[in-house]
Amino acid sequence: MVNATTRAVPRTTLRDLLVAQAVRTPDALALVDERESLTFRAVRRRVTALAGRLRALGVRPGDVVAVGVPRSASLSLSILAVIEAGAAYLPLDLGYPVERLAFMLSDASPRVLMTDAASQPLFGDAVPVLSIDENGGAGDETPALADALTPEHPAYVIYTSGTTGRPKGVAVSHGAIVNRILWMQNEYPLGPDDAILQKTPCGFDVSVWEFFWSFLVGARLVMAPPEAHRDPATLVQLVEDHRITTIHFVPSMLALFTASVIESHGPEAAVCTSLTRVFCSGEALGRGLSRAFADRFGAELHNLYGPTEAAVDVTCCPASGAWIEGDGGVPIGRPVWNTQLRILDHALRPVPPGAVGELYLCGDQLAIGYLGRPGLTASRFVADPFDPGRRMYRTGDLARWLPDGAVEYLGRTDHQVKIRGQRIELGEIESALAALPGVAQAVVTAAELGGGASEPGMDRRQLVAYLVPAVDHALDEAALRAALRDTLPPHMLPAAYVTLAALPLSPNGKLDRKALPLPVVGAQATAPGAAAGRPPAPGLESRLAAIFTELLDLERIGADDDFFAIGGHSLLAMRLAARIRRDLGQPVAVSQIMVAPTVARLATLLAETGERDEPENLGFAPVIRLRDGSGPPLICLYPGSGLSWQYSVLSRYVSGDRPIVGLQSPRPNGPLALSADLDELCDRQLAILREVQPQGPYHLLGYSLGGTVAYGLAVRLRRMGERVEFLGLLDTYPAEAHDWSGLGRTDADQAAEREQEQFLNDALADVMDEDLRREKVEMFGHIFGNYKDAVRVLSKARTPLYDGELTLFVAEKSIPPEIDPEGSWTGRVGRLSVHRLSHCSHEDIIAPASLRIVGPLLDRVIATAMADAEPVRAAVGG
Ligand code: AMP
Repeated sequence: MVNATTRAVPRTTLRDLLVAQAVRTPDALALVDERESLTFRAVRRRVTALAGRLRALGVRPGDVVAVGVPRSASLSLSILAVIEAGAAYLPLDLGYPVERLAFMLSDASPRVLMTDAASQPLFGDAVPVLSIDENGGAGDETPALADALTPEHPAYVIYTSGTTGRPKGVAVSHGAIVNRILWMQNEYPLGPDDAILQKTPCGFDVSVWEFFWSFLVGARLVMAPPEAHRDPATLVQLVEDHRITTIHFVPSMLALFTASVIESHGPEAAVCTSLTRVFCSGEALGRGLSRAFADRFGAELHNLYGPTEAAVDVTCCPASGAWIEGDGGVPIGRPVWNTQLRILDHALRPVPPGAVGELYLCGDQLAIGYLGRPGLTASRFVADPFDPGRRMYRTGDLARWLPDGAVEYLGRTDHQVKIRGQRIELGEIESALAALPGVAQAVVTAAELGGGASEPGMDRRQLVAYLVPAVDHALDEAALRAALRDTLPPHMLPAAYVTLAALPLSPNGKLDRKALPLPVVGAQATAPGAAAGRPPAPGLESRLAAIFTELLDLERIGADDDFFAIGGHSLLAMRLAARIRRDLGQPVAVSQIMVAPTVARLATLLAETGERDEPENLGFAPVIRLRDGSGPPLICLYPGSGLSWQYSVLSRYVSGDRPIVGLQSPRPNGPLALSADLDELCDRQLAILREVQPQGPYHLLGYSLGGTVAYGLAVRLRRMGERVEFLGLLDTYPAEAHDWSGLGRTDADQAAEREQEQFLNDALADVMDEDLRREKVEMFGHIFGNYKDAVRVLSKARTPLYDGELTLFVAEKSIPPEIDPEGSWTGRVGRLSVHRLSHCSHEDIIAPASLRIVGPLLDRVIATAMADAEPVRAAVGG
């Protein structure tokens, strides 16, 4: 009876349903983000224009189109356009490592990648790009081809973690997702006054109903800003501002949200009263949490269950009334339309009610399969012995029938885990670790580290990696972490590492997971992507750590965890500065957080600052230590702005523990004389450099003006008989090759300046603090002065010959017409090696998104330069 779910659903596609609704309510508000509000008619116009461009690029039903766009109305429009063009969309989470994005692109071979200029550097050039920032003409407006679209065509492809170290793309048909959304509308009807908040990252399948449901039924979709889903206070604000009625949480985030509302607004005050229905799915929903939610909010709560392989969700259960009495989890409930559940034993025999078996899913919502993986598809989508000719999906979930016909979820049969709602195959992390040099064996578990009371439903588990080193190898944890960050998304990075001489085995020789020792509490960090290591020291470090953890929503962090590597961004850095000022009464500048992004370094900096009068100037010191360590430092020369702190992101990519040092314009300590020329500037910087590093080998890197100065320093050092092992110029050309006739600053410098201004404006947007405003004004004074110096000096400069090797990184998107990148340097230098960066322009070459590509490349180039120099070093005893 439970499985008698047959329901006539029209044979149609998402595309046809979208068109029909746009015709029904053209003037209703359809799509809202921070910048724009669009009616159904406006959405339709934008979508057909984009779809026309896709078709003009050859996109047809059955194709895949990748979408790499930050969360915004543009993301929604891009996805709708792919559907309109008849193709399946492949969402790309921009927070994923470049290597993983590249893997998904090569694995799915999309016909086109839709992206914006700011995100484009994350992707290689293997796939033709449709830039959504450009209007790009009308394209092919004829919708005829999309009419060849059938319910069997794929609507989307979503990648999930793969056991063997390779993520797999799940392709889902229009028919499957249409069934799922029409069921949802029937079960929880939305009307014209309803608003859904789109906050689930697009790489997770829950986002699929968020993206489409409102457009099929005349309700409104509100796009949360990119980072909003992590911050309960921002979510409350969005719900209030937009009168959101419908929202989804993974249970652990619902726990955080509920606790945060109680903490900030108390148990009673009317908050988020517009919420009508809240959906949970993705992991087990506790009854305790459901009661805490019911006590605080007036909205209905529903528990949905399903894997990506079956169009998002296949069962539902109200999380209210008798369902949430007692302990344990809310059942996952009963099947949705045209869906059957089977609970079977290992011989595929049905287990009796109450007995535990594996859950199999049947019906219209099953995915087409894993993209390009017929073997894997056949092993998980097996023949249904009870309905010949049909398939059933083997979930790997353990479950049992309850007496009333609902199903209870009881865990997994395998090593797939869900941490804070994110699906992770431990095997994938183990494969990634085992592939690293020096690792003989790797096991990863999810364990609860540390004690302490916790709110109901709060997920305190962390990934722990257990490693056995290869014979004669010592494992360098920092290097392992860095290597893993290049391949795995943030939620798959172990929080703690334990090195073992051997893995514990059970008497029959199998790995004994229960015997794996828990890492010592306090010695490990708990953030995905956070470094294990020294806990914060009592005093200033601990007080700073408390503010870091609260802002980043972590339980604890190590003294050496980089704020920007564990979830911090520029806006949060502003909040961090504001909080430190408020809670510690200590003036701190954002630029200081940029150059000292760990608790330990910030504490040292603030301790020093306490003894000085003008803390703000620290960010402008002639030398800033971007990373401490041992070995020859990487010396980074300031661009036209005079500031080097943008290079601080490099510490994520430069391997080992080599120091990174930024040389900055000494302007605050006295501007460059009007009569000064490049030689004088280089001499000044040489004196500073020699104080930082009295002798070679030197590793110099410069961008723009900094490139010219780095080159000047290299020439001088060679003349002095010093070794320059690496000279890297980021988009820098001989000064005399430029056309200075335009007078004043170059467009590129102006653009860079605008970008910097934009950055600071963004960072200061929500801060009314007078001190910070003053700092900003002062900062701009310095920056403008530095630009003027740079232009004056460069326009008169002459480029000497250099007998060493020059490594040039060319920003291909903005090569000035008068510049021939290779030709301009040929003949001036002993050897030239060139790396062309097809998606970078001069302004963004040291922006964080570009550095995700430039950084690892730079690291490899320097490592090669160092290895090549090794024999020389040995010979001269350097
Ligand atoms: P995903 O493909 O990310 O949706 O993950 C699917 C898996 O998440 C399922 O196979 C379950 O293990 C787990 N899951 C999803 N929803 C629930 C739920 N409501 N209760 C318990 N586990 C769930």
